[in-house]
This record gives sequence, structure tokens and C-alpha cells, in this order.
Amino acid sequence: MEKLKKIISSIDRMGYKAYKQLEGKYDFGDFILFIDHVQGDPFASPSRCRVRVMQSIAGFDGKLFSNKSRKTALEDYISRAFDRSVKKECRGNRGTGKSGLITIDSGKQEILQRTSCIINSDFAEARFYAGLPARGRTILGDHCLEMLTGEVPIITRSSMLMQSLDKEKIRKHIEICEDQDHIRNILKENKLVSFIKNGSILPRRSGISDSPLPVSEAVAFKSPPQLEITLETPNEGKITGMGVPPGVTLIIGGGFHGKTTLLKAIERGIYNHIPSDGREYCITVDSAVKIRAEEGRNIQKVDISPFISNLPFGRDTVEFSTANASGSTSQAANIIEALELSAGLLLLDEDTSATNFLIRDEIMQKIVPKHKEPITPFIDQVKNIYRKLGTSSILVMGGSGDYFEVADTVIMMDSYQPAVVTKKAREIIQGRKDIRTAETPGPFRPVTGRVPLPSGIDPFRGGKKKVRSRGLDNVIFGFSNIDLSAVEQIVDSSQVNAISDIIIYALEKKYIDGKNTMTSALDMVFKDIEKYGLDIISDFKGQHPGSYALPRKFEVAAALNRLRTLKALQVS
Ligand code: ADP
Ligand code: MG
Repeated sequence: MEKLKKIISSIDRMGYKAYKQLEGKYDFGDFILFIDHVQGDPFASPSRCRVRVMQSIAGFDGKLFSNKSRKTALEDYISRAFDRSVKKECRGNRGTGKSGLITIDSGKQEILQRTSCIINSDFAEARFYAGLPARGRTILGDHCLEMLTGEVPIITRSSMLMQSLDKEKIRKHIEICEDQDHIRNILKENKLVSFIKNGSILPRRSGISDSPLPVSEAVAFKSPPQLEITLETPNEGKITGMGVPPGVTLIIGGGFHGKTTLLKAIERGIYNHIPSDGREYCITVDSAVKIRAEEGRNIQKVDISPFISNLPFGRDTVEFSTANASGSTSQAANIIEALELSAGLLLLDEDTSATNFLIRDEIMQKIVPKHKEPITPFIDQVKNIYRKLGTSSILVMGGSGDYFEVADTVIMMDSYQPAVVTKKAREIIQGRKDIRTAETPGPFRPVTGRVPLPSGIDPFRGGKKKVRSRGLDNVIFGFSNIDLSAVEQIVDSSQVNAISDIIIYALEKKYIDGKNTMTSALDMVFKDIEKYGLDIISDFKGQHPGSYALPRKFEVAAALNRLRTLKALQVS
């Protein structure tokens, strides 16, 4: 620390570049401060720093991170604690640009594996950013001193030592995370694709907030008796709620009765949630993929023929490519791409689907004959997909009863409460005379794998790697832009950071080599992450790796599939 103080006073009032001298490692007695990378100027992205506390001082019992779920939860808790301390202790503005700012990447409603905090049997380490202070481009030594030797030690000691943290809250955070992973792991053996605990609060505060609607305004979830199931968890004991069985499930009901809210909770059930989120026991199989229409997207060599054939002018749909998909072709491609990665559950909402992709009723069938209609609607394939591939579907469908015919389970939302109406729906269908004809074009074939070609994935721009993510929706990738706004299961901008660097990692490691399929290339990346941690995808080896949160392979593939320069070959 004395060394750091000396350097800071020697560069006081000098030009910003002199800050580079700070890069290095400083012993503060009870922790080590690493200054890994110093920003180029006060407006650039802040300097990358880490604080490391050895376990002999930090004192986190091994039981708190004895398995993957617990470790992720503890790391998540400490990132949040560090963030809270920053908000309390850091003065913030200390001059030009980002001068004085301290930030750490900590989560929102989800508990995700991220790189902002690492706990192991040797140490606890937080990775944060610090805006080194300057007026204009002149170094403000006093402020730098206050920040790095005043604020940083207080923040570290109040958030990274077991003795200064709330033991009860840590326990709860870890146990709830472990329970969630446990339920997700036993869904299959309980013949379920999703589970929602009684008492869950599904609605969110607003269209732009993911925190729960206050309990006083929300109707708590209660399972219909027919679907009620009790599961055993390691920490919470027995919990009871609605189990959604495999097959085809419909969610029906009047407008504004909570259908989309239920589907969204199911969709987000692939992630663990923090205590008090309201959805901490809404758990879905981790291979569930939200499918929607996405007009205008790029499609590269996708076999959409199970849904679309006989396009005008004899256009190929077995190896379908377009730079401008229609609503229905985009939705078809989204399904096939999800199945290519072995999705176990498809989630569709009428609100975000192409109508002509979902249904074609008997009247339309009479006027437009099959040979004039390229689309085989989802209703005629949904059962085949389940029979042939074992992939279930949950659909929100308030606007057409045609799906009663193919549904195994029908859930009706009525004033935010679910009821099972499968039997009634079947009776109605049986009494119907003017019935639509199924238009199934034969059994559903397993989806053909595709091989992405390295030549179509170029992160370089002007001789330099240029990849930057902007929020949840957009990645600048070399000369291209990847639009992720329709990839609804991305929940954290740090996942987007990880997605773009995973693509680069797969290229550099030659996992994407023009021979491996997309699936096997991604499997290799995720195996490395499993083995070496999420740090591995970073260029900053052994240093602050940047802010990453773990995405699923589905979202990484979604980004690749939306890269407009992508070239791919179908496996023959
Ligand atoms: P639908 O898809 O059936 O038209 P939504 O799911 O969009 O309905 O819900 C309509 C409105 O009701 C939304 O503002 C939503 O936040 C609210 N809502 C949904 N479920 C609940 C609930 N359980 N308690 C209170 N409000 C809810
Ligand atoms: Mg809706």
C-alpha cells in the first residue's frame, strides 16, 4: 500500500498516461489490490481492478461453496454485497468523465454464474472497475489516493469478510439456489417440464421492470388440483405447486387474464432467482426455448420444410436461406434451430407469433387449397414433434380453439388463476361438425445439423478485433451487427458480453473449423467453461476478465444464427 501511495504522489498533476504506472499488485495487509488494466483516458471504460482476500481472513466455510449451485449463489451474494458497499461508500464523481466511479457487475432478479466474483478454498476475489480521477487529462492524485486507499479497503472489508456479512441472508441465498437447481434436475424423473410453486408471485411491477408486483396487488399462484404435485427439496423440504406434464399444453383464457404472465414465468424458469423475486420456485427444464416470429431476420441454410414448402418460383426450403425472413418463415427457422440443439420444450405465445404459422382454419382450407399454401401450420406438427423428438410445447392461445384437437393438457387462466379444462375442451371438439383437415406432410424428421464456416465469422475491423455489446439487444461484431432483440431468454447484458466472446473463443480454439457442427463446437466451448470457469473466454488471462454472465448454448447459437455474414453447410 505504501508503494501505491508513493507512485500516486509521484504522478500527481501529470498527464493521464502516467496512470499506467499503477498497473501491478499491492499488499494491503488483509487483502491484495490488483490494478490489471489502466484506462487510456477519463472517458474510456474504467480501469480493471481486483481485490483478493485469502480465506484465512475472509473466512468462508467450505460448506458455503461445496457444490456448483452453492458456489454460484455465494459468489452472486458477494458481488451484490460489494455493489451495495460501493453505493454506500464510494463518493462517485471526482472530476472529468468517469473519474471516481467504482462499479461491479452484479445481478438483478436472476442468480447467474458470473466473473465478477470468484470464491475457492484459497481466496475470495471481487473484480471491479474504477474510474481513475482526473481534471481534464490531469491526474488528481489526492482523489486517486482517497479512492484506492480509502474507499476500496472499506468496501472490501465490509463485503468480502464472512464476519461482516449477514449469515442468515447468505444461508437463504445459497439454499434457495441449491433447491432451484435440485428441482430442475428432478423435473424429468417426475414427468414434468415445468413447476410453479403455490404462492408464487408471477406478475412484474411494470413492462420495464422485472421486480415483482407488490404482494398487495398480485394474485398469488395456486395450482389446479389436477396438476398439483409435491416435490422434495434439500433445504426447503416439501414444496407443492403446479406441475406441467410433457406433451402439448395449451394456456387459454380471456384477454388480460394472465396467460402471457404465466408463460413468461415458465420461460424464465430456466434461471434461478433471488429470494423475494416471487418466481424463485418457478422452475423449467433448462432446454426450454421461447419461440417467436421475427420478421426480417437472416436465415442461413435451415431446413424449414416441415413447416414451409412449395414457395413461389420453386424456392428451396430444405436448405432455406434469406436475408429478410417473413413472420412465418422466421418462426419456422427459430423452431428448427432450437431443435437442432435438442430443445426439450418449445414456448410460444400468440402475442408474438405469426397467425398464419399457428393456425389455418377449415374455412381458409376450403378457399385456399393446400397446394397453394406453402405453410404447414404449427398445429399440424406440434404432436409430431413430441412423438418423434420428445420435445414438448406450451402455447398461449386465447384466439382459436383449433388447438384443442392436439392438446394433451388445457389450462385456462381466469382472473389470474389457472384451472384445468382439458376434458371440457375435448367434449366441445367432439360435438363439432365443420372440422379442419389435418395437413401433416408425413412424420417429423430429426433436424439436420449445420456446420458453421469460419470464413463467415469475422470479428475484425481495420485489423483489430472489434466486438462490443450494447445492452441486451445488440452486438457489434466486426463489420456486422447482431440483433438479439427477439431472443427473449437473454436476461443480462453480461450474458451478451459472454456470447460474443464465446463465438470468438470457438473460432480461435478452432472449435468452429468448418467441420464441427454448431452443436458440437458449442459443446466443446461449454465443456471448457465447465472445466476452467467462465474466465477462460477472456483475452485477459489471469487478470480481471471483464463482465461475463453465463448464457446457455441456445442463446449463443441464436447470436451466431443472426450474424448476417454467417455461412453454413448442412450435414448430409
Ligand atoms: P393475457 O396474456 O392473458 O392477455 P397478461 O399476462 O398480459 O394477460 O396479463 C395482463 C395484466 O395482468 C398484466 O398487466 C399483468 O401484469 C397482470 N397480471 C398477470 N397476472 C397477474 C396476477 N397473478 N396478479 C395480478 N396481476 C396480474
Ligand atoms: Mg397475452
